[in-house]
Amino acid sequence: MDHFPIFLSTRGQRIVLSGGGDAALAKLRLLMKSEARISVFAPTPAPEIKDWAEAGKLTLHRRALTHGDTLCAALFYAADEDATEDKRTASIARSEGALVNIVDNLHDSTFITPAIVDRDPVTIAIGTEGAAPVLARAIKADLEAKLPSTLGMMARVGKGFRKMADALPFGRARRDFWRDYYFATSPASEESAEEALEALLRQHLNKTARPGHVAFVGGGPGDPELLTLKARKALDEADVVIYDRLITPEILELARREATMIDVGKEGFGPSTSQEHINALLLEHASNGAQVVRLKSGDATVFGRLDEEIDAVDAHNIGWHIVPGITSASAAVATIGQSLTKRGRNASVRFLTGHDMKGFADHDWAALARAGEVAAIYMGKRSARFVQGRLLMHGADRTTPVTVIENASRPDQRIVQSTLNHLADDLAAANLSGPALTFYGLAPRAALQEYRHNTDVTPMPDRQPISLQEAL
Ligand code: SAH
Repeated sequence: MDHFPIFLSTRGQRIVLSGGGDAALAKLRLLMKSEARISVFAPTPAPEIKDWAEAGKLTLHRRALTHGDTLCAALFYAADEDATEDKRTASIARSEGALVNIVDNLHDSTFITPAIVDRDPVTIAIGTEGAAPVLARAIKADLEAKLPSTLGMMARVGKGFRKMADALPFGRARRDFWRDYYFATSPASEESAEEALEALLRQHLNKTARPGHVAFVGGGPGDPELLTLKARKALDEADVVIYDRLITPEILELARREATMIDVGKEGFGPSTSQEHINALLLEHASNGAQVVRLKSGDATVFGRLDEEIDAVDAHNIGWHIVPGITSASAAVATIGQSLTKRGRNASVRFLTGHDMKGFADHDWAALARAGEVAAIYMGKRSARFVQGRLLMHGADRTTPVTVIENASRPDQRIVQSTLNHLADDLAAANLSGPALTFYGLAPRAALQEYRHNTDVTPMPDRQPISLQEAL
C-alpha cells in the first residue's frame, strides 16, 4: 500500500487551489462538501467559480499564486492543467508546508483524492493508486446503486441516538441493535428513523442476551469464492474464530474485524495444538457468551475430528450447528475435469485417509484393487509408497491412473499425473509442499487443457509418460 487512506478533518482548515478551468471546477465541487476554508487563485476563473465566490463558498484571488499564498494551508491542489505552472505552484505550496496534489500527476503528488461515495456522514473512499481509474469508477457505481440514499440520514439520526442505546449491554447486544437498525429497517424520513430506533430499542431491551454458540464451519479448499453464503455470514457475525492451518489468509480476511482470531493450526506431523486445548478454547469462549466460529478446512465433517469437538460442546449444553463446506475431493476433482462417480465405471467412491492417529491407515485394499474403483485419499503424501504397495500386493493394475492435486482451488494449484506403479517416485520428484489430494483411479480429462488456467501439470519424469500435452 503506497498510499495510506485516512479521513482528514477539514473543520477550520485552509485548502488552497490554483487554477480556474475544468480540473479546478471538478476538484472544487468535491472540496465544497467539506468544512474547509477554500482559497482559489486564478487570473481567469470560470463563471461558476465567480458565482461560488459571490455566494461566499470560497475566497477568489484573481491572480496567479505566489509565495506566502499557501501559508497555513493543510492541502494544496495544483489544477492549472499546465505542467510548468503546476510545478511552480506545487513547489511554493510544498515549501510552505502544505500537502500537495497535482491534478493528473500521481508521481509528483503527495496525496491523491479518491473516488468518493457520499452518504455523509458515511463516506466511502475508493483508490487504486492510479492503477485502474476505470475500476474505481465501476466500484463507485456499484456502491452508489447498492447503498440506499437514506443511509446518511439514518447514520445522522443514529448518531444522536447513541446515548440511548447505551442502555443495552456493551458488546453483542448493542451491535445486534445497530445491525437491526441499519439492515432491517428502512425509514424514509428522520421522523420515521427516530420512531424505528425507539421501537427497536424497546424490543432489544426486552430480549434476553443471546447465549454463546459454536458454529462448526467448513471453510472449503482455500478459494474464498468457494465459501458458502452461510459460512460468510457466520464469519461476519463471529466474536471468536478458531481456525486450522489450512485456512487461507484470504478467508480469514472475511471475519468480522473485531473478532478474536485464534490459530490452532496443526502441522501434519509437526507441533500441534492438542485436541483437549481446542475443546477447552471452544468451551471457554462459548460459555462467556461468544458466538464462536470453529473454522475447518474443506468440509468440517470430513477428516476433521469434528465429533470430539461436538461432544465437548454438547456436554456443556452449549448450542452448536454445522455449516457444510466444499471438501477438497470435490474441489480437486473439478480441477481435473472429472466426476467422482460415473455410470459404468464406479458406482461408489471412497474417501480415505493415508494415515490416521496410529500411523498408516489400513483399508479394504482387495476391494479397492478391483478395476474401475475410485478413491480420494486425504493426507496421502507421506503414505504414497505404503498405499502403492498394499494395492499392488492385492492385485491392482499397475497402470491404474493416479492424480495428485496440490493446493486445489488456490492460485498455486498443481496437478501431478501418475500411475500406480510410479506413484511414490513421481510424488517424491514433484516435491509438493502444500496440502495434496490423491485420486486413485482418476486421470485428468484430456480435454482439460482447453480450459485450464494457471495450473501446472507435472508429467512423470524419466519415462515416456502420456502427459496431458501429448494426449491432446
Ligand atoms: N476437512 C478437510 C480435510 C482435512 S484433512 C476437507 O474436507 O477437505 C487435511 C487434508 O485435506 C490434507 O492433507 C489434504 O489431503 C486435503 N486438503 C485440504 N485442502 C486441500 C487443498 N486445497 N488441496 C488439496 N488437498 C487439500
